[in-house]
Amino acid sequence: MAITPLMPVYPRCGFRPVRGEGCYLISEDGTRALDFASGIAVNALGHGHPHLVKAIADQAATLMHVSNLYGSPQGEKFAQRLVDNSFADTVFFTNSGAEAVECAIKAARRYHHVNGNPQRHTLITFGNAFHGRTLGTISATNQDKMRDGFEPLLPGFAYAPFNDLEAATALVNENTAGFMVEPVQGEGGIKPATQEFLKGLRALCDEQGLLLVLDEVQAGYGRTGKFFAHEHYGITPDIMAVAKGIGSGFPLGACLATEEAAKGMVIGTHGSTYGGNPLAMAAGQAVLDVLLEPGFLDTVTAKGERLRAALEQMIPNHDHIFESVRGLGLMMGVRLKFESRDFVAHCRDNHGLLTVAAGDNVVRILPPLVIDESHIAECVEKLSAAAASFQVPST
Ligand SMILES: *Cc1c(COP(=O)(O)O)cnc(C)c1O
Repeated sequence: MAITPLMPVYPRCGFRPVRGEGCYLISEDGTRALDFASGIAVNALGHGHPHLVKAIADQAATLMHVSNLYGSPQGEKFAQRLVDNSFADTVFFTNSGAEAVECAIKAARRYHHVNGNPQRHTLITFGNAFHGRTLGTISATNQDKMRDGFEPLLPGFAYAPFNDLEAATALVNENTAGFMVEPVQGEGGIKPATQEFLKGLRALCDEQGLLLVLDEVQAGYGRTGKFFAHEHYGITPDIMAVAKGIGSGFPLGACLATEEAAKGMVIGTHGSTYGGNPLAMAAGQAVLDVLLEPGFLDTVTAKGERLRAALEQMIPNHDHIFESVRGLGLMMGVRLKFESRDFVAHCRDNHGLLTVAAGDNVVRILPPLVIDESHIAECVEKLSAAAASFQVPST
């Protein structure tokens, strides 16, 4: 048999982590690497954070899982905290980002359905967006590489270029349910939405009775230095998908909504066997304890500024490789002058630095939010050394 027991859908590399220590990963063969990938913006608290580890261990010993048919003191408490600290009035817990987006799509459709406008079923999404790998979420993306061979896709999506308010406006018609957008595109290459774009979408929604759905699976939860990325824009969504950092390694996601936007999500309309079980809620609470500690998010902003300044200082020394830096907080992207995958592999294999490749020639730098000054210095040293030893591809 040629197929591997692990279905071979990932191009897995030779680095095989077996242990994590704070901001470092240690591989099977003992190699240590600085983890500025964080499991793709997941390990907000790094590896082995004592508060998170203890919360999970204690809850596992007490009560791991019960059905959502029972009352949930754990879920009620965590949802209340999210509601208290966001635009939202209500929360549905999931096990992943794609499921959180699915819930957002379903809530948007149901909203117009219960308003007597079932024809308003189409969400306008944006070029190079990433919303997950379920059939619904690949249908929400116009990237062929994710959709190829999976047709027929789910109808009910239309696509406009990112940051193009005019094009988005032009697509609105009697079938439009709203817009779904990442405030900072992650996989697409760390592209922040412009102020004009997000504010414009919000205004359009308000004028026309449409819903603004934000996918903050990657940009949310402190990553950009605000609890949620839309706080940089002075707007709020109607519905929002969150995941990645919310469990800091425990599989957890959430769909947050206003009371108005969630009005179609009544008993029987949605569900999840695992979603929001006691173990997940304990993990979520522990992460939130750290994130909402007074001043914590300000430290993320300050570290983001230092990281950006250090990267900007480094770039001119290797301007045959690096082009520019962009991003918000600790969601940083370094744009290269060529496709980024080989450079990311070089950093990992030869310089002990883990980053993530993204679209548009970008190297994503997504450290744990708990890094300190020394980790920033180490990252920039390693990037510099990697740039100096990298064989630039001939084009
Ligand atoms: C990662 C990601 C998703 C999908 O999350 P999964 O947990 O992999 O299902 C959706 N949207 C955005 C913006 C993401 O970055």
